[in-house]
Amino acid sequence: AELPADPEETNEIRQVKNTVFSYVNPVKPSNPSLIHASKEVAELIGVSSDEIQSESFLNTFSGKEILPETRPYAMCYAGHQFGNWAGQLGDGRAINLTEIEHNNNFFTLQLKGAGKTPYSRTADGLAVLRSSVREYLCAEAMYHLGVPTTRSLSLMLSGDEVLRDILYNGNPAYEKGAIVCRVAPSFIRFGSFEMLTARNELKNLKDFVEHTIKHYFPEINGEPKEQYLQFFKSVANKTREMILHWQRVGFVHGVMNTDNMSIHGITIDYGPYGWLENYDPNWTPNTTDSQNRRYRFGNQPQIAQWNLYQLANALYPLINEAEPLEKILESFITEFESDYKTMFLSKLGVFTSTETDDKLITALETVLQLSETDMTIFFRNLSQIQKKDSVENAIERVKDSFYIPEEIKGEILESWKKWFTVYIERLNAEELSDEVRSEKMNQINPKYVLRNYMSQLAIDAADQGDYSLIDELYLVLQKPYDEQPEYQRWFVKRPDWARSKVGCSM
Ligand code: AMP
Ligand code: MG
Ligand code: MG
Repeated sequence: AELPADPEETNEIRQVKNTVFSYVNPVKPSNPSLIHASKEVAELIGVSSDEIQSESFLNTFSGKEILPETRPYAMCYAGHQFGNWAGQLGDGRAINLTEIEHNNNFFTLQLKGAGKTPYSRTADGLAVLRSSVREYLCAEAMYHLGVPTTRSLSLMLSGDEVLRDILYNGNPAYEKGAIVCRVAPSFIRFGSFEMLTARNELKNLKDFVEHTIKHYFPEINGEPKEQYLQFFKSVANKTREMILHWQRVGFVHGVMNTDNMSIHGITIDYGPYGWLENYDPNWTPNTTDSQNRRYRFGNQPQIAQWNLYQLANALYPLINEAEPLEKILESFITEFESDYKTMFLSKLGVFTSTETDDKLITALETVLQLSETDMTIFFRNLSQIQKKDSVENAIERVKDSFYIPEEIKGEILESWKKWFTVYIERLNAEELSDEVRSEKMNQINPKYVLRNYMSQLAIDAADQGDYSLIDELYLVLQKPYDEQPEYQRWFVKRPDWARSKVGCSM
Protein backbone atom coordinates (compact mmCIF):
# COMPACT_ATOMS: atom_id res chain seq x y z
CA ALA A 1 0.00 0.00 0.00
CA GLU A 2 1.10 3.56 -0.69
CA LEU A 3 1.28 5.35 2.63
CA PRO A 4 -0.10 8.86 2.76
CA ALA A 5 2.58 11.54 3.20
CA ASP A 6 1.98 14.97 4.65
CA PRO A 7 1.38 17.14 1.56
CA GLU A 8 2.71 20.32 3.16
CA GLU A 9 6.47 20.32 3.18
CA THR A 10 7.10 22.51 6.15
CA ASN A 11 8.42 21.76 9.59
CA GLU A 12 6.02 24.20 11.20
CA ILE A 13 4.68 22.66 14.39
CA ARG A 14 1.08 21.55 13.90
CA GLN A 15 -1.48 18.75 13.90
CA VAL A 16 -0.77 16.67 10.83
CA LYS A 17 -3.86 14.76 9.77
CA ASN A 18 -4.51 12.05 7.23
CA THR A 19 -0.86 11.06 7.11
CA VAL A 20 1.67 8.74 8.73
CA PHE A 21 4.76 10.83 8.05
CA SER A 22 6.06 14.23 6.98
CA TYR A 23 9.06 14.92 4.77
CA VAL A 24 11.54 17.02 6.70
CA ASN A 25 15.25 17.70 6.38
CA PRO A 26 17.70 17.64 9.27
CA VAL A 27 19.01 21.00 10.43
CA LYS A 28 22.61 21.56 9.32
CA PRO A 29 25.02 21.33 12.26
CA SER A 30 27.58 24.15 12.36
CA ASN A 31 30.68 22.07 13.07
CA PRO A 32 30.03 18.34 13.34
CA SER A 33 32.64 15.97 14.76
CA LEU A 34 32.61 12.23 15.32
CA ILE A 35 32.85 11.00 18.90
CA HIS A 36 32.31 7.31 18.30
CA ALA A 37 30.99 4.95 15.65
CA SER A 38 30.23 1.27 15.83
CA LYS A 39 32.18 -0.74 13.26
CA GLU A 40 29.89 -3.66 13.91
CA VAL A 41 26.69 -1.72 13.17
CA ALA A 42 28.34 -0.05 10.18
CA GLU A 43 29.15 -3.46 8.76
CA LEU A 44 25.59 -4.58 9.38
CA ILE A 45 24.32 -1.89 7.04
CA GLY A 46 27.13 -2.27 4.52
CA VAL A 47 29.46 0.55 5.57
CA SER A 48 33.16 -0.39 5.86
CA SER A 49 35.46 0.71 8.72
CA ASP A 50 37.36 2.94 6.30
CA GLU A 51 34.20 4.74 5.32
CA ILE A 52 33.50 5.56 8.96
CA GLN A 53 36.44 7.96 8.92
CA SER A 54 35.27 9.66 5.74
CA GLU A 55 33.90 13.15 5.28
CA SER A 56 30.73 11.72 3.81
CA PHE A 57 30.05 9.56 6.89
CA LEU A 58 30.48 12.63 9.09
CA ASN A 59 28.22 14.74 6.90
CA THR A 60 25.54 12.10 6.42
CA PHE A 61 25.16 11.06 10.04
CA SER A 62 25.31 14.55 11.47
CA GLY A 63 22.56 15.67 9.10
CA LYS A 64 24.79 18.06 7.19
CA GLU A 65 24.23 16.34 3.86
CA ILE A 66 21.39 14.24 2.58
CA LEU A 67 22.23 10.99 0.84
CA PRO A 68 21.47 11.10 -2.89
CA GLU A 69 18.06 9.78 -3.90
CA THR A 70 16.72 9.80 -0.36
CA ARG A 71 14.01 11.86 1.30
CA PRO A 72 14.22 12.12 5.10
CA TYR A 73 10.99 12.07 7.08
CA ALA A 74 9.55 12.23 10.57
CA MET A 75 6.74 9.89 11.60
CA CYS A 76 3.37 10.86 12.99
CA TYR A 77 2.22 8.92 16.01
CA ALA A 78 0.25 9.33 19.19
CA GLY A 79 0.46 7.68 22.56
CA HIS A 80 -0.61 7.12 26.10
CA GLN A 81 1.84 8.87 28.42
CA PHE A 82 1.84 7.68 32.04
CA GLY A 83 -1.56 6.10 31.44
CA ASN A 84 -3.19 9.15 29.88
CA TRP A 85 -4.12 9.75 26.27
CA ALA A 86 -1.71 12.37 24.92
CA GLY A 87 -2.93 12.78 21.34
CA GLN A 88 -0.46 13.50 18.55
CA LEU A 89 3.20 13.17 19.55
CA GLY A 90 5.32 12.05 16.59
CA ASP A 91 9.04 12.28 15.93
CA GLY A 92 9.78 15.60 17.56
CA ARG A 93 13.53 15.22 17.33
CA ALA A 94 14.02 12.10 15.29
CA ILE A 95 14.35 12.09 11.51
CA ASN A 96 14.48 8.93 9.43
CA LEU A 97 17.17 9.38 6.79
CA THR A 98 16.31 6.39 4.68
CA GLU A 99 15.45 2.71 4.66
CA ILE A 100 18.01 0.29 3.27
CA GLU A 101 18.34 -3.39 2.53
CA HIS A 102 21.61 -5.19 3.18
CA ASN A 103 22.18 -8.95 3.15
CA ASN A 104 18.41 -9.49 3.03
CA ASN A 105 17.79 -7.42 6.15
CA PHE A 106 15.90 -4.13 6.30
CA PHE A 107 17.18 -1.18 8.26
CA THR A 108 15.88 2.29 8.95
CA LEU A 109 18.57 4.86 9.73
CA GLN A 110 17.38 7.54 12.09
CA LEU A 111 19.05 10.68 13.42
CA LYS A 112 18.05 11.75 16.90
CA GLY A 113 18.60 15.38 17.77
CA ALA A 114 18.75 16.72 14.20
CA GLY A 115 16.26 19.54 14.52
CA LYS A 116 12.62 20.49 14.53
CA THR A 117 9.85 18.63 12.79
CA PRO A 118 6.10 19.25 12.63
CA TYR A 119 5.96 17.08 15.77
CA SER A 120 8.35 19.05 17.98
CA ARG A 121 5.48 20.61 19.99
CA THR A 122 7.10 23.01 22.48
CA ALA A 123 10.63 21.61 22.28
CA ASP A 124 13.69 22.33 20.14
CA GLY A 125 14.21 19.08 18.25
CA LEU A 126 17.73 18.78 19.62
CA ALA A 127 19.61 16.44 21.93
CA VAL A 128 22.47 17.10 24.32
CA LEU A 129 25.74 15.22 24.71
CA ARG A 130 24.69 13.82 28.09
CA SER A 131 21.54 12.03 26.92
CA SER A 132 23.14 11.04 23.62
CA VAL A 133 26.07 9.28 25.30
CA ARG A 134 23.58 7.43 27.49
CA GLU A 135 21.49 6.31 24.53
CA TYR A 136 24.46 5.46 22.32
CA LEU A 137 26.22 3.26 24.88
CA CYS A 138 23.16 1.63 26.39
CA ALA A 139 21.66 0.41 23.12
CA GLU A 140 24.91 -1.36 22.23
CA ALA A 141 25.29 -2.72 25.77
CA MET A 142 21.77 -4.13 25.58
CA TYR A 143 22.43 -5.72 22.21
CA HIS A 144 25.47 -7.55 23.54
CA LEU A 145 23.52 -8.65 26.60
CA GLY A 146 21.15 -10.38 24.17
CA VAL A 147 18.30 -7.92 24.73
CA PRO A 148 16.34 -6.89 21.60
CA THR A 149 17.05 -3.23 20.95
CA THR A 150 17.67 -0.47 18.45
CA ARG A 151 21.35 -0.28 17.53
CA SER A 152 23.68 2.72 17.64
CA LEU A 153 25.66 3.57 14.52
CA SER A 154 27.26 6.86 15.47
CA LEU A 155 27.56 9.56 18.09
CA MET A 156 28.49 13.05 16.93
CA LEU A 157 28.79 16.52 18.30
CA SER A 158 26.86 19.07 16.30
CA GLY A 159 29.17 21.92 17.24
CA ASP A 160 26.14 23.89 18.45
CA GLU A 161 25.01 24.70 21.95
CA VAL A 162 21.66 23.59 23.24
CA LEU A 163 19.73 25.34 25.97
CA ARG A 164 18.35 23.07 28.65
CA ASP A 165 16.10 24.04 31.52
CA ILE A 166 18.38 22.57 34.13
CA LEU A 167 19.22 25.45 36.38
CA TYR A 168 22.75 25.90 37.64
CA ASN A 169 23.17 28.89 39.97
CA GLY A 170 19.81 30.17 38.82
CA ASN A 171 20.94 30.42 35.20
CA PRO A 172 19.76 28.37 32.26
CA ALA A 173 22.47 25.97 31.17
CA TYR A 174 23.89 25.50 27.73
CA GLU A 175 25.09 22.05 26.86
CA LYS A 176 26.86 20.58 23.89
CA GLY A 177 24.48 19.44 21.17
CA ALA A 178 24.84 15.89 19.87
CA ILE A 179 23.32 13.60 17.28
CA VAL A 180 22.98 9.83 17.49
CA CYS A 181 22.21 7.67 14.48
CA ARG A 182 20.00 4.78 15.55
CA VAL A 183 19.32 1.72 13.46
CA ALA A 184 16.27 -0.55 13.61
CA PRO A 185 14.13 -2.60 11.22
CA SER A 186 11.62 0.25 11.55
CA PHE A 187 10.63 2.81 14.15
CA ILE A 188 6.92 1.94 14.02
CA ARG A 189 5.37 2.12 17.48
CA PHE A 190 2.11 1.08 19.14
CA GLY A 191 1.27 4.79 19.04
CA SER A 192 1.55 4.84 15.24
CA PHE A 193 -1.65 2.79 15.03
CA GLU A 194 -3.32 4.54 17.97
CA MET A 195 -3.04 7.85 16.11
CA LEU A 196 -4.91 6.61 13.04
CA THR A 197 -7.71 4.98 15.03
CA ALA A 198 -8.14 7.99 17.30
CA ARG A 199 -8.61 10.15 14.21
CA ASN A 200 -10.93 7.56 12.70
CA GLU A 201 -8.68 7.32 9.63
CA LEU A 202 -9.62 3.71 9.07
CA LYS A 203 -8.45 3.46 5.47
CA ASN A 204 -5.00 4.68 6.54
CA LEU A 205 -5.08 2.28 9.46
CA LYS A 206 -5.77 -0.66 7.18
CA ASP A 207 -3.11 0.39 4.66
CA PHE A 208 -0.54 0.98 7.38
CA VAL A 209 -1.17 -2.36 9.09
CA GLU A 210 -0.95 -4.13 5.74
CA HIS A 211 2.23 -2.27 4.85
CA THR A 212 3.73 -3.25 8.20
CA ILE A 213 2.82 -6.90 7.82
CA LYS A 214 4.04 -7.08 4.23
CA HIS A 215 7.44 -5.53 4.97
CA TYR A 216 8.25 -6.64 8.50
CA PHE A 217 6.12 -9.71 9.19
CA PRO A 218 6.38 -11.56 5.85
CA GLU A 219 5.72 -14.91 7.57
CA ILE A 220 2.10 -13.83 8.22
CA ASN A 221 -0.52 -14.90 5.69
CA GLY A 222 -4.15 -15.90 5.39
CA GLU A 223 -7.44 -13.98 5.40
CA PRO A 224 -7.05 -10.25 6.22
CA LYS A 225 -8.68 -10.50 9.64
CA GLU A 226 -6.61 -13.55 10.47
CA GLN A 227 -3.48 -11.65 9.45
CA TYR A 228 -4.28 -8.71 11.73
CA LEU A 229 -4.73 -11.10 14.65
CA GLN A 230 -1.50 -12.90 13.85
CA PHE A 231 0.21 -9.54 13.70
CA PHE A 232 -1.08 -8.63 17.14
CA LYS A 233 -0.08 -12.02 18.53
CA SER A 234 3.38 -11.65 17.06
CA VAL A 235 3.87 -8.17 18.57
CA ALA A 236 2.67 -9.53 21.93
CA ASN A 237 5.14 -12.43 21.74
CA LYS A 238 8.08 -10.22 20.82
CA THR A 239 7.17 -7.75 23.56
CA ARG A 240 6.99 -10.56 26.10
CA GLU A 241 10.44 -11.79 25.14
CA MET A 242 11.88 -8.30 25.42
CA ILE A 243 10.43 -7.70 28.89
CA LEU A 244 11.70 -11.08 30.04
CA HIS A 245 15.21 -10.00 29.06
CA TRP A 246 14.79 -6.67 30.86
CA GLN A 247 13.86 -8.53 34.05
CA ARG A 248 16.75 -10.93 33.58
CA VAL A 249 19.42 -8.23 33.36
CA GLY A 250 17.78 -5.72 35.73
CA PHE A 251 16.99 -3.05 33.15
CA VAL A 252 14.34 -0.45 33.92
CA HIS A 253 13.12 1.50 30.90
CA GLY A 254 11.58 4.34 32.87
CA VAL A 255 9.15 5.67 30.22
CA MET A 256 7.06 2.80 28.91
CA ASN A 257 4.56 5.06 27.19
CA THR A 258 2.85 3.51 24.18
CA ASP A 259 4.78 5.82 21.86
CA ASN A 260 7.96 4.19 23.18
CA MET A 261 6.84 0.63 22.42
CA SER A 262 8.20 -0.82 19.18
CA ILE A 263 6.10 -3.27 17.18
CA HIS A 264 9.31 -5.29 16.74
CA GLY A 265 9.61 -5.87 20.48
CA ILE A 266 12.90 -4.01 20.58
CA THR A 267 13.90 -1.59 23.31
CA ILE A 268 13.59 1.97 21.99
CA ASP A 269 14.08 5.42 23.39
CA TYR A 270 16.72 5.40 26.09
CA GLY A 271 15.71 8.32 28.28
CA PRO A 272 15.79 8.09 32.07
CA TYR A 273 16.49 4.36 32.01
CA GLY A 274 18.47 2.64 34.72
CA TRP A 275 19.89 -0.63 35.99
CA LEU A 276 18.89 -2.19 39.26
CA GLU A 277 21.78 -2.02 41.63
CA ASN A 278 20.33 -2.99 45.01
CA TYR A 279 17.56 -5.40 44.04
CA ASP A 280 14.33 -3.46 44.52
CA PRO A 281 11.22 -4.21 42.43
CA ASN A 282 9.81 -0.78 43.34
CA TRP A 283 12.71 1.15 41.93
CA THR A 284 12.34 3.52 39.00
CA PRO A 285 15.05 5.74 37.52
CA ASN A 286 12.44 8.28 36.42
CA THR A 287 12.20 11.16 38.91
CA THR A 288 8.97 12.43 37.31
CA ASP A 289 7.38 9.07 38.18
CA SER A 290 8.57 8.83 41.76
CA GLN A 291 5.05 9.26 43.19
CA ASN A 292 3.09 6.59 41.32
CA ARG A 293 6.09 4.53 40.26
CA ARG A 294 4.04 3.34 37.30
CA TYR A 295 7.17 2.28 35.44
CA ARG A 296 8.98 0.62 38.36
CA PHE A 297 11.05 -2.51 37.68
CA GLY A 298 8.52 -4.98 39.05
CA ASN A 299 5.64 -3.44 37.10
CA GLN A 300 7.16 -3.68 33.63
CA PRO A 301 5.33 -6.88 32.60
CA GLN A 302 1.94 -5.45 33.66
CA ILE A 303 2.64 -2.20 31.85
CA ALA A 304 3.62 -4.06 28.71
CA GLN A 305 0.25 -5.80 28.85
CA TRP A 306 -1.53 -2.48 29.44
CA ASN A 307 0.24 -1.05 26.40
CA LEU A 308 -0.76 -4.07 24.35
CA TYR A 309 -4.37 -3.35 25.36
CA GLN A 310 -3.99 0.05 23.75
CA LEU A 311 -2.60 -1.54 20.61
CA ALA A 312 -5.53 -4.00 20.62
CA ASN A 313 -7.96 -1.08 20.85
CA ALA A 314 -6.20 0.57 17.93
CA LEU A 315 -6.46 -2.57 15.79
CA TYR A 316 -10.04 -3.34 16.85
CA PRO A 317 -11.78 -1.43 14.01
CA LEU A 318 -10.10 -3.80 11.55
CA ILE A 319 -11.08 -6.91 13.48
CA ASN A 320 -14.45 -6.03 15.06
CA GLU A 321 -14.25 -8.87 17.51
CA ALA A 322 -12.97 -8.47 21.03
CA GLU A 323 -12.62 -12.08 22.10
CA PRO A 324 -9.58 -13.19 20.07
CA LEU A 325 -7.73 -10.02 21.08
CA GLU A 326 -8.61 -10.53 24.73
CA LYS A 327 -7.37 -14.09 24.58
CA ILE A 328 -3.98 -12.94 23.35
CA LEU A 329 -3.84 -10.30 26.07
CA GLU A 330 -4.67 -12.82 28.78
CA SER A 331 -2.14 -15.33 27.57
CA PHE A 332 0.49 -12.57 27.57
CA ILE A 333 0.60 -12.62 31.37
CA THR A 334 0.18 -16.36 31.87
CA GLU A 335 2.94 -17.09 29.37
CA PHE A 336 5.10 -14.38 30.88
CA GLU A 337 4.74 -15.87 34.34
CA SER A 338 5.75 -19.29 33.18
CA ASP A 339 8.70 -17.92 31.18
CA TYR A 340 9.73 -15.74 34.11
CA LYS A 341 9.96 -18.77 36.37
CA THR A 342 12.13 -20.67 33.91
CA MET A 343 14.30 -17.59 33.37
CA PHE A 344 14.74 -16.92 37.08
CA LEU A 345 15.63 -20.53 37.76
CA SER A 346 18.21 -20.41 35.01
CA LYS A 347 19.80 -17.41 36.75
CA LEU A 348 20.10 -19.72 39.76
CA GLY A 349 21.67 -22.45 37.65
CA VAL A 350 18.58 -24.62 37.96
CA PHE A 351 17.43 -26.13 34.68
CA THR A 352 14.71 -28.52 35.83
CA SER A 353 11.47 -27.76 37.65
CA THR A 354 9.95 -28.94 40.91
CA GLU A 355 6.94 -27.97 42.98
CA THR A 356 8.94 -25.79 45.35
CA ASP A 357 10.38 -23.50 42.66
CA ASP A 358 8.01 -20.60 43.33
CA LYS A 359 9.03 -20.61 46.98
CA LEU A 360 12.72 -20.64 46.14
CA ILE A 361 12.25 -17.62 43.88
CA THR A 362 10.00 -15.50 46.10
CA ALA A 363 12.13 -16.23 49.16
CA LEU A 364 15.20 -15.02 47.29
CA GLU A 365 13.44 -11.88 46.06
CA THR A 366 12.70 -11.04 49.68
CA VAL A 367 16.09 -11.76 51.16
CA LEU A 368 17.90 -9.90 48.36
CA GLN A 369 16.10 -6.78 49.53
CA LEU A 370 16.90 -7.35 53.21
CA SER A 371 20.64 -7.01 52.66
CA GLU A 372 20.29 -4.43 49.85
CA THR A 373 21.95 -6.72 47.41
CA ASP A 374 23.52 -5.68 44.13
CA MET A 375 21.65 -7.72 41.53
CA THR A 376 24.45 -8.04 38.99
CA ILE A 377 27.20 -8.91 41.47
CA PHE A 378 25.03 -11.34 43.42
CA PHE A 379 24.01 -13.47 40.45
CA ARG A 380 27.47 -13.37 38.94
CA ASN A 381 29.07 -14.55 42.17
CA LEU A 382 26.37 -17.14 42.73
CA SER A 383 27.95 -19.20 39.96
CA GLN A 384 30.90 -19.80 42.31
CA ILE A 385 28.80 -21.84 44.75
CA GLN A 386 29.86 -25.47 45.05
CA LYS A 387 27.54 -28.36 45.87
CA LYS A 388 29.70 -29.21 48.88
CA ASP A 389 29.66 -25.65 50.26
CA SER A 390 28.40 -25.00 53.77
CA VAL A 391 25.86 -22.17 54.07
CA GLU A 392 28.58 -20.04 55.68
CA ASN A 393 30.85 -20.68 52.71
CA ALA A 394 28.09 -19.83 50.31
CA ILE A 395 27.29 -16.54 52.04
CA GLU A 396 30.98 -15.69 52.00
CA ARG A 397 31.01 -16.05 48.23
CA VAL A 398 28.18 -13.57 47.60
CA LYS A 399 28.58 -11.10 50.46
CA ASP A 400 30.51 -8.61 48.31
CA SER A 401 27.18 -7.79 46.72
CA PHE A 402 25.59 -6.42 49.92
CA TYR A 403 25.24 -2.65 50.24
CA ILE A 404 24.59 -2.67 53.97
CA PRO A 405 27.88 -1.49 55.43
CA GLU A 406 28.31 -3.91 58.34
CA GLU A 407 28.61 -7.68 58.33
CA ILE A 408 25.13 -9.16 58.04
CA LYS A 409 23.76 -10.55 61.27
CA GLY A 410 20.53 -11.31 63.14
CA GLU A 411 17.41 -11.76 61.07
CA ILE A 412 19.14 -10.99 57.78
CA LEU A 413 21.85 -13.57 58.37
CA GLU A 414 19.25 -16.14 59.42
CA SER A 415 17.23 -15.46 56.27
CA TRP A 416 20.27 -15.96 54.07
CA LYS A 417 21.19 -19.17 55.90
CA LYS A 418 17.69 -20.48 55.44
CA TRP A 419 17.67 -19.63 51.74
CA PHE A 420 21.10 -21.11 51.06
CA THR A 421 20.21 -24.31 52.90
CA VAL A 422 17.36 -24.88 50.47
CA TYR A 423 19.39 -23.71 47.49
CA ILE A 424 22.38 -25.92 48.14
CA GLU A 425 20.05 -28.89 48.65
CA ARG A 426 18.46 -28.06 45.34
CA LEU A 427 21.84 -27.92 43.57
CA ASN A 428 22.73 -31.30 45.00
CA ALA A 429 19.55 -32.75 43.55
CA GLU A 430 20.57 -31.50 40.09
CA GLU A 431 22.74 -33.48 37.72
CA LEU A 432 24.97 -30.67 36.47
CA SER A 433 28.49 -30.49 37.84
CA ASP A 434 29.60 -27.28 39.57
CA GLU A 435 31.78 -26.48 36.62
CA VAL A 436 29.16 -26.89 33.92
CA ARG A 437 26.51 -25.08 35.96
CA SER A 438 28.86 -22.18 36.58
CA GLU A 439 29.63 -21.89 32.88
CA LYS A 440 25.96 -21.89 31.97
CA MET A 441 25.10 -19.33 34.65
CA ASN A 442 27.79 -16.98 33.41
CA GLN A 443 26.09 -16.91 30.02
CA ILE A 444 22.85 -15.76 31.67
CA ASN A 445 24.08 -13.48 34.44
CA PRO A 446 26.18 -10.64 33.00
CA LYS A 447 29.29 -9.45 34.77
CA TYR A 448 29.18 -5.95 33.27
CA VAL A 449 26.17 -3.65 32.86
CA LEU A 450 26.02 0.08 32.18
CA ARG A 451 25.51 1.43 35.67
CA ASN A 452 24.43 5.06 35.84
CA TYR A 453 27.63 6.20 37.50
CA MET A 454 29.65 4.66 34.67
CA SER A 455 27.73 6.69 32.07
CA GLN A 456 28.14 9.75 34.24
CA LEU A 457 31.92 9.39 34.37
CA ALA A 458 32.03 8.96 30.60
CA ILE A 459 29.77 11.98 30.10
CA ASP A 460 31.83 14.22 32.41
CA ALA A 461 35.03 13.29 30.58
CA ALA A 462 33.39 13.68 27.16
CA ASP A 463 32.17 17.12 28.12
CA GLN A 464 35.85 18.01 28.59
CA GLY A 465 36.68 16.55 25.20
CA ASP A 466 38.05 13.26 26.53
CA TYR A 467 36.34 10.31 24.85
CA SER A 468 38.54 7.57 26.26
CA LEU A 469 35.90 6.40 28.75
CA ILE A 470 33.27 6.16 26.03
CA ASP A 471 35.70 3.99 24.07
CA GLU A 472 36.45 1.86 27.12
CA LEU A 473 32.84 1.33 28.20
CA TYR A 474 31.88 0.53 24.63
CA LEU A 475 34.55 -2.20 24.60
CA VAL A 476 33.87 -3.74 27.99
CA LEU A 477 30.13 -3.83 27.30
CA GLN A 478 30.65 -5.68 24.04
CA LYS A 479 31.45 -8.80 26.06
CA PRO A 480 29.35 -8.46 29.19
CA TYR A 481 29.41 -12.19 29.97
CA ASP A 482 33.17 -12.58 29.65
CA GLU A 483 35.42 -12.31 32.70
CA GLN A 484 37.63 -9.60 31.13
CA PRO A 485 39.87 -9.25 34.21
CA GLU A 486 41.46 -6.16 32.65
CA TYR A 487 38.12 -4.38 33.22
CA GLN A 488 37.56 -5.66 36.75
CA ARG A 489 37.23 -2.08 37.98
CA TRP A 490 33.76 -1.97 36.37
CA PHE A 491 32.66 -5.04 38.32
CA VAL A 492 32.04 -3.23 41.55
CA LYS A 493 29.10 -1.92 43.48
CA ARG A 494 27.85 1.56 42.76
CA PRO A 495 30.03 4.01 44.69
CA ASP A 496 28.45 5.94 47.56
CA TRP A 497 28.45 9.25 45.72
CA ALA A 498 26.19 7.78 43.06
CA ARG A 499 23.61 6.37 45.45
CA SER A 500 20.73 8.77 44.97
CA LYS A 501 21.62 9.66 41.41
CA VAL A 502 18.97 8.83 38.87
CA GLY A 503 18.94 8.77 35.11
CA CYS A 504 18.21 11.85 33.09
CA SER A 505 15.40 12.42 30.66
CA MET A 506 16.46 14.78 27.93
P1 AMP B 1 9.75 10.67 25.00
O1 AMP B 1 8.99 10.67 26.30
O2 AMP B 1 11.20 10.95 25.12
O3 AMP B 1 9.48 9.44 24.23
O4 AMP B 1 9.19 11.90 24.13
C1 AMP B 1 7.82 12.15 23.99
C2 AMP B 1 7.59 13.06 22.82
O5 AMP B 1 8.32 14.27 22.96
C3 AMP B 1 8.00 12.48 21.47
O6 AMP B 1 7.04 12.89 20.54
C4 AMP B 1 9.34 13.12 21.24
O7 AMP B 1 9.63 13.21 19.86
C5 AMP B 1 9.14 14.49 21.84
N1 AMP B 1 10.40 15.13 22.27
C6 AMP B 1 11.20 14.77 23.31
N2 AMP B 1 12.26 15.58 23.40
C7 AMP B 1 12.16 16.48 22.39
C8 AMP B 1 12.94 17.59 21.95
N3 AMP B 1 14.07 17.96 22.56
N4 AMP B 1 12.50 18.27 20.87
C9 AMP B 1 11.37 17.94 20.24
N5 AMP B 1 10.59 16.92 20.61
C10 AMP B 1 10.96 16.19 21.68
MG1 MG C 1 9.87 8.57 22.61
MG1 MG D 1 12.92 10.23 24.66
